[in-house]
Amino acid sequence: MKFGGTSVEDARAFARVARIIGARRDERPVVVVSAMSRVTDALLASVETAAATGDAEGALRPLEEHFERHTFVARTLPAGARDELFLEVEIARRELGELLRRVATGQEPRPPLQDEIVSYGECLSAKLLAAVLAERALPAAYVDARRCVITDDAHGCATPANEETYKHTRAELAPLVADGRIPVLGGFLGSTADGRTTTLGRGGSDYTAALIGAGLEAREIQIWTDVNGVLTADPRVVAHARTIPSLSFAEAAELAYFGAKVLHPKTILPAVIRSIPVRICNSRDPEQPGTGVYFDAEMSPRTVKAIAHKKGITVLHITSARMLGAYGFLRALFEVFERHQTIIDIVTTSEVSVSLSLEDTSRMEEIIRDLKPIAAVKVESNLAVVCIVGEELRYTSGVAARIFSTLRDINVLLISQGASNVNLTFVVAEADVEETVRRLHASLFECDTQELAPLFRRKEGVTR
Ligand code: ASP
Repeated sequence: MKFGGTSVEDARAFARVARIIGARRDERPVVVVSAMSRVTDALLASVETAAATGDAEGALRPLEEHFERHTFVARTLPAGARDELFLEVEIARRELGELLRRVATGQEPRPPLQDEIVSYGECLSAKLLAAVLAERALPAAYVDARRCVITDDAHGCATPANEETYKHTRAELAPLVADGRIPVLGGFLGSTADGRTTTLGRGGSDYTAALIGAGLEAREIQIWTDVNGVLTADPRVVAHARTIPSLSFAEAAELAYFGAKVLHPKTILPAVIRSIPVRICNSRDPEQPGTGVYFDAEMSPRTVKAIAHKKGITVLHITSARMLGAYGFLRALFEVFERHQTIIDIVTTSEVSVSLSLEDTSRMEEIIRDLKPIAAVKVESNLAVVCIVGEELRYTSGVAARIFSTLRDINVLLISQGASNVNLTFVVAEADVEETVRRLHASLFECDTQELAPLFRRKEGVTR
């Protein structure tokens, strides 16, 4: 069970988490927790300030508010536990002061110091949670995550050594679980083989949960957050968007690109490889079933699952007569994007032209300059990508007809289908995107399901 920062934002949230864990005690949980909300940001900002100003005291000051938030939670505990946590916070304040002084002098490499500093967020929240659980007679045991998660030394974005991590995880945690204890660890943290603190990248607590779950061969990994799982569309656009009960890993990976509240595919891979389902649950509404992500697509019914969209897209139309019947042209073209480290999302081609969509336009001038000698380039901006996600879309007849007849008066610039089995993606003007998503949601999710059923029957005789 992994709880994100908003699930432990204050004393009430800690109490809620304790109730959730208590109710699932018989399932023998292992708990991974993020830093309290906003704490990682504040710690990172303090590093910036110390480095920029050389004033360690000034850099420590904005953290006071957050030390106070931790002691506020500790105050809800009985005297013994409370005093112990007060001491922990005091030690953190002192040690962070010292670490920020080292940053301020600028004499040591910054990334290892920064990892050391941000690790206090997760260490403190995990110690607090273990104490809150113990107060409710739940046999919690704080475990330093750095004893389990072993990584390389890429500070700030370390890569775990999976097998090492599983070995350590089993050695540290299995005896505790067997003994009826509830291990509580901070997410996001790791350590190099020689014991230096590392972090797994922002949002890395999900990664920790997947690693720990995989190492222990957990029955399920639960990611507790503040939404009811993954929704059929962005609720800011479609007010009555619904929770999707189950997604395949491929579907979840497509949706992650759109920043849907889904786990980043890389982070859940360790669980997925071992066929451990990952469930996204709402700590504010724990009885909701949430969304399950399954490795095996068969576990997830074949339907259109979601409509994702993203604004701020630019399309380049690249035309060159040299493409006609020539080989090597696409390589020359894509090399330009590689050189300027720009990610391409959608690609469509005709005999003499290629259109592609980009999100990052920071190197646009250089890209156009380098394309000019080989092709004519037209740029269209203020566009949006819309992506319909569902297993077996490639082999389902009628979906495209339904989608585009719904949009008959909306101009569609690019269409891409077939590259993956699970999505149909197209580009419209940014000004049209909300109307597009609303209409599609009405057409695909709000009509009679009987009427839709034939759309999802696999076409006879299609070979794959
Ligand atoms: N606390 C870290 C962050 O804010 C890790 C996490 O919450 O997953 O990025």
